[in-house]
Amino acid sequence: MDVERVRPLISNEAKKRLIQVVGAENYDDTKTGRLVYSYDATPQFQSLPDAVIAPRNTKEVAEIAKICNEYRIPIVPRGSGTNLCAGTCPVEGGIVLLFNHMNRILEIDEENLTATVQPGVVTLDLTKAVEEKGLFYPPDPGSMKISTIGGNISENSGGLRGLKYGVTRDYVLGLEVVLANGDVIRTGGKLAKDVAGYDLTRLFVGSEGTLGIVTEATLKLIPMPETKQTMLALYQDLEAAARSVSKIIANKIIPVTLEFLDQPTLEVVEDFARIGLPTDVKAVLLIEQDGPKEVVERDMKKMADICRAEQAVSVQLARSEEEAEALRTARRTALSALARLKPTTILEDATVPRSEIAKMVKAINEIAEKYQLKICTFGHAGDGNLHPTCPTDARNREEMERVERAFEEIFAKAIELGGTITGEHGVGVMKAPYLEWKLGPAGIAAMKAVKQALDPNNIMNPGKVFAKSTRKRVVVTR
Ligand SMILES: Cc1cc2nc3c(=O)[nH]c(=O)nc-3n(C[C@H](O)[C@H](O)[C@H](O)COP(=O)(O)OP(=O)(O)OC[C@H]3O[C@@H](n4cnc5c(N)ncnc54)[C@H](O)[C@@H]3O)c2cc1C
Repeated sequence: MDVERVRPLISNEAKKRLIQVVGAENYDDTKTGRLVYSYDATPQFQSLPDAVIAPRNTKEVAEIAKICNEYRIPIVPRGSGTNLCAGTCPVEGGIVLLFNHMNRILEIDEENLTATVQPGVVTLDLTKAVEEKGLFYPPDPGSMKISTIGGNISENSGGLRGLKYGVTRDYVLGLEVVLANGDVIRTGGKLAKDVAGYDLTRLFVGSEGTLGIVTEATLKLIPMPETKQTMLALYQDLEAAARSVSKIIANKIIPVTLEFLDQPTLEVVEDFARIGLPTDVKAVLLIEQDGPKEVVERDMKKMADICRAEQAVSVQLARSEEEAEALRTARRTALSALARLKPTTILEDATVPRSEIAKMVKAINEIAEKYQLKICTFGHAGDGNLHPTCPTDARNREEMERVERAFEEIFAKAIELGGTITGEHGVGVMKAPYLEWKLGPAGIAAMKAVKQALDPNNIMNPGKVFAKSTRKRVVVTR
């Protein structure tokens, strides 16, 4: 990663013009303001922006883009900064663009089953708002209490319900996007069918702020499922738990949630959440099904039978919605709980076909042992999306070297098993050096061609997705 300043500071002239657009109260280039937005949820990446700007509407965003394009000032769009790939770390300086003022749910359309929102809407707020109307917005990243829809779209985030309902991409029907040159385009819309031209909506979903700025989104809603049941299956054998996951799917049951937590994760989560999770078993599966009552009951019974046949030592159904919610919340707090163990927490999201989960979990444990590290594993087992997490200490350089090598081996193993380097967290700066492992040189060239066409001056979130050098988790200060 470049540590040298490669671009000029925002000139006085450019600053004056930007302030004319958003007003002085929405332009912050104080050291404190810049420091606050110099990092995100990714450990060990920090770099100061030159200014932080909070536009109030699409017109202002478009004006900002025009000015930045003219002066070649990098733009880093930022939701809540919860991404785990250094995606909002302004590695090449420039402006951080906030959506605090663009956080309204514009419409919930009950006839077309859509919600139209601004990018700064918090995910949970949208979920609650549509639930009040008996509707359902399924994407539920663990960070949903604070993450924004703009961030979810740009990372194509997944969540606990991804196995049955898919990820954010599956719910984005249309977008309003400000391009790097300030042009405003609309893609898709409320239509269930629309094949007019290239599918630009899908292109922008998951593009990590590198192709344009999402200023509005039309999202698909579905009717709220009738009922839901939750159960925990406990195992003394980690691989038996992984086998149960494959068997459940092979038996043609698609549960809404199929989450995996290993013993070290359980211990930490229970210490944090205190809801009576067992800590003396090797692994737990959190399983949920929703839908019509009779289907849910039939599927839960079948899944309980499968788990028992795969040597689950206990299978317990949540007795109330409160207990079920406590279990879900406990799972969502896994990262926060693990983060209390050591000063630095490195969480990854290597993903494999679900049939390979058992092999992947075994490999992670062997790699942890080889490098003498504690690696706790939890994740969306039903999607094959695992989160091997290493509590460590960035000040211990020797240990950090081992952490780097261990995760490199984990990514290589995931690819070898037909998987990928990231299932939901995105590439950002963190995974950029590994992207070619997944796509090959021709794949990278195709992506670069798209980037070059839409953002020829490389002002949109530069330094992300495409690797510059080998990976180094260094603190960059400008
Ligand atoms: C405790 C915890 C749990 C998590 N659990 C999950 C999980 O279960 N599943 C999952 O997928 N992820 C998870 N994440 C990762 C993260 O929360 C998601 O990636 C989330 O979608 C980021 O939302 P954000 O609003 O914080 O976006 P940010 O982190 O601010 O931004 C993310 C990316 O989107 C871009 N961006 C933001 N807004 C816009 C916009 N309007 N236009 C263009 N680009 C934009 C940014 O430039 C950046 O590249 C978790 C993170 C934490 C800390």
